[in-house]
Amino acid sequence: MKFSYKILVWTIIIMAAAFGMGGYFFVNHVFETSMEREVGQAMDESSILQFAFETAALNIPSKYDMLQDAAIKEIGYNLENGGQGNGRLLRLADEDRTVLYASEGFVEDTAFLEQIQKGSRIYQIIAVPDETQERYYIQTGVVIDALDRILYLETMKEVTEVFEERTQGFAVYRSLTVAMLLVVSVVTFFIATWLTKPIRLLTRATKKMAEGDYSFRAERISNDEMGQLTSDFNRMANALEENIHKLEEEVRAREDFIAAFSHELKTPLTAIIGYADLLRSRRLDEDKHFLSANYIYTEGKRLEAMSLRLLDIIVTKRWDIELQDADAEVLFEYIRDMFAENPDVELKLQYDKSQIRGEINLLKSVLLNLVDNAVKASRDKEEKPVVEVFGQRREDGYFFAVKDYGVGIPPQECKKITEAFYMVDKSRARSKNGAGLGLALCTEILKLHHSELIIESTPGEGSMFSFLLPAEEGETNC
Ligand code: ADP
Repeated sequence: MKFSYKILVWTIIIMAAAFGMGGYFFVNHVFETSMEREVGQAMDESSILQFAFETAALNIPSKYDMLQDAAIKEIGYNLENGGQGNGRLLRLADEDRTVLYASEGFVEDTAFLEQIQKGSRIYQIIAVPDETQERYYIQTGVVIDALDRILYLETMKEVTEVFEERTQGFAVYRSLTVAMLLVVSVVTFFIATWLTKPIRLLTRATKKMAEGDYSFRAERISNDEMGQLTSDFNRMANALEENIHKLEEEVRAREDFIAAFSHELKTPLTAIIGYADLLRSRRLDEDKHFLSANYIYTEGKRLEAMSLRLLDIIVTKRWDIELQDADAEVLFEYIRDMFAENPDVELKLQYDKSQIRGEINLLKSVLLNLVDNAVKASRDKEEKPVVEVFGQRREDGYFFAVKDYGVGIPPQECKKITEAFYMVDKSRARSKNGAGLGLALCTEILKLHHSELIIESTPGEGSMFSFLLPAEEGETNC
């Protein structure tokens, strides 16, 4: 059952119970109050009649030494028909409780008569069946001590109207309850529908998201707890969407990586297999033999370099490094040594002597890759190319930069070259033993140092690759 219907049903049940019980107690209270009043009046009338009877008995001529039955009947008749009590119902009985006088219509039952005791006035409420309906009466009883006789006086006062009023009261209340419930149902239906609207909007958003529409958000329509819940839900949906996009990105990157990897593997392997096949199937002259063997060797070396780089990247990704303090100079000296014998380049080093914090072997690898790339990018120049390596102590860390005046990189390629296997000019890169893995490795290493590679380049003019090794707490700036 819908939540709004539940609210509706329970409101109707509670309202029906409250109205029903309230009405019952109210009508009954009114009835009891009326009955108390009627009983009081009936008792008053009984005592008035008792007094009137005793007064009338005193007025009987004294020649009778005793109150005769006939005189009792006469007084009874006068009391029934005389004065204001015209039409009243009464019954008189003698010492043996034998009825001497009874108004027409008085009940014949004498059980109540038997209960009357001297010194007390009693009453009961009785129902007398009529042709069409029951009529209700208050029957009173009292003992009269008149002259030398003990008599029993009973009266009957009709209270059918009070009972009818109660029945009518219940009927009116029933109709009122039904009408109220109808009004309450309509009002509650609208309130419940309005109150549960945020839930419906949230349900719709959840369904949409389950169907794959992660950008769908629930509309916030109130400032209460439901509004808060909607905001929280939307915040959760944002986080979810972000994570899903990240995952999709990762899957895409992995797929690209596998595609590029198999392609990079295929190219040298095809060459190796082709030249090996040539060597085993034909007798070649010395030059061709050497050329084929050389191809197999260089492509084999390229494969080896590629697999080592790949291994480095994989290891770096899983490696939790321990940073050590070291002299920045060590890194620059290493680069100087590595390219000291290289006739293809003029290396210019300029650096501040300072302490740095990092994994020194990994940082050597970063600088070596960057300088190596710079040299490769500059080789085509006619004059001897220059590659500059800077090191600068700054407030927030130590700044490294490798600058060349080589071919440069087109702006749209700058973001992609740090992806594994990405090469701007594939044939050119392969001819220089490149596999597009060097910068991917540098990026991973710098991530471990909480740093990132910044690439600035102008095609035809050269490039600058830089990064800032952040200063750590406790490190002294020299
Ligand atoms: P590779 O092994 O091919 O050098 P890298 O990841 O180191 O792989 O470099 C990716 C590509 O980025 C290179 O193939 C080259 O096209 C480009 N590149 C890198 N450094 C430079 C540079 N200093 N100048 C111009 N192009 C560069």
